[in-house]
Amino acid sequence: MNARCPSCGATVMPRSRFCPTCGRALPQSPPRPSAPPPAAPVDPPIEGALTNSKRLQISGDTLDLRELINVVESSVRWWQRGLSSSDAVTREQAARAIDELSQIMRSLSQQLAQGRTTIRITRRLPALRAFEVVCPSCGGGNRANARFCQRCGALLNAAPRYGVGSVQPRALTFHVAARTDTGRVRQQNQDAVYTGEIDLPGQQKAYLCLVADGMGGAAAGEYASRLAADVSRAYLEQESSSRLPLTDEAWQALLRDAVRAANRRIYDAAHADAAHRGMGTTLTIALLVGDRLHIASVGDSRAYLLNLNGVTDDGAPSAQLTSDHSLVARLVDIGQLTPEQARTHPQRNILYRSIGTDPSVDVDTRSEGLEPGDIVLLCSDGLVNHVSDEEIVQIACGEPDPDRAAARLISLANERGGRDNISVVMVRVEGGRQ
Ligand code: CA
Repeated sequence: MNARCPSCGATVMPRSRFCPTCGRALPQSPPRPSAPPPAAPVDPPIEGALTNSKRLQISGDTLDLRELINVVESSVRWWQRGLSSSDAVTREQAARAIDELSQIMRSLSQQLAQGRTTIRITRRLPALRAFEVVCPSCGGGNRANARFCQRCGALLNAAPRYGVGSVQPRALTFHVAARTDTGRVRQQNQDAVYTGEIDLPGQQKAYLCLVADGMGGAAAGEYASRLAADVSRAYLEQESSSRLPLTDEAWQALLRDAVRAANRRIYDAAHADAAHRGMGTTLTIALLVGDRLHIASVGDSRAYLLNLNGVTDDGAPSAQLTSDHSLVARLVDIGQLTPEQARTHPQRNILYRSIGTDPSVDVDTRSEGLEPGDIVLLCSDGLVNHVSDEEIVQIACGEPDPDRAAARLISLANERGGRDNISVVMVRVEGGRQ
């Protein structure tokens, strides 16, 4: 929601420090307090990916109700199988989960009986930075019609920031940290993280960060996430060494190809060896090139953009750049679960889109501009199941050293139970030499 300038009455964004129209300083509202969420009850980690026959197809922004019921039904069967085949699933847990899923199924069936066939997905990822004009003094982004910088009040000479090949990207430096932790409950760490530079033609560099969260029995999940990291990294290194993508779309196409290469490799490996059958993984990649950030994701490992000056149109200090391809996220969309219930739901780890479970995979991609002061954070669900978005902002933006910030986030998730493997990759973006 936008506020108004007390001096000239022009509309200003909530976190602007200076009026973009008259350049006067604006009164600052105190930061929003953030209440820590209650500690979640500890229950054993549950994971699974749905196979192609149970895929939940999203067409445009709607979900087919029948498909959603199939997914819920297959989740019930998943619990039934667990009940009969594994000691890890107790009778009580399975009964509770099956009962919850039955309630959801009943509610979905009623909607179907009332004539609804599809459900509109209500949760949209926020539109990020519509700030096309870069301030010559502080480097901050401003709207196209701004005369004064909303961050430092300097007079702007409105040069568009992201013209097609018109503006040389600003030199930014990246301070990167990556940590992964087994957590307090699991025996193995099935997450994989990677960070490293990639050579581009003309002695340019890109920075690659990724998180993969594997699933599958024995060591299969560990193998799947490691393969996803290795194959996508090798693909990107190989392809971008000879040809430089020139547009956001071309970078996104390259990332999609890299993720698909990983998908095919894991799918083939899962079918070549009985010990690896059914394995899969999430994969979320961030590629930082100049002052652009390109993201690709499948599954529920998240990428966030954080900045205390605000990253969204309405000035919020954090934005999730990825959509969770999980059953509970879709149940939150249609109001069957609240976000709080979803964080502790027994089916929270069941994915309807993952790497390696189907011969082909849809990959979400997007691109954003980067500014000094930004933090790009990638994490597995082991973090967000215990730590709220507000706490992530507080810790990531409050601790200047990215490695210490990542360590603190992991400690907090462990203090609250550490039910799953926890991975955090953090990139602090700073202004470089001009
Ligand atoms: Ca996980």
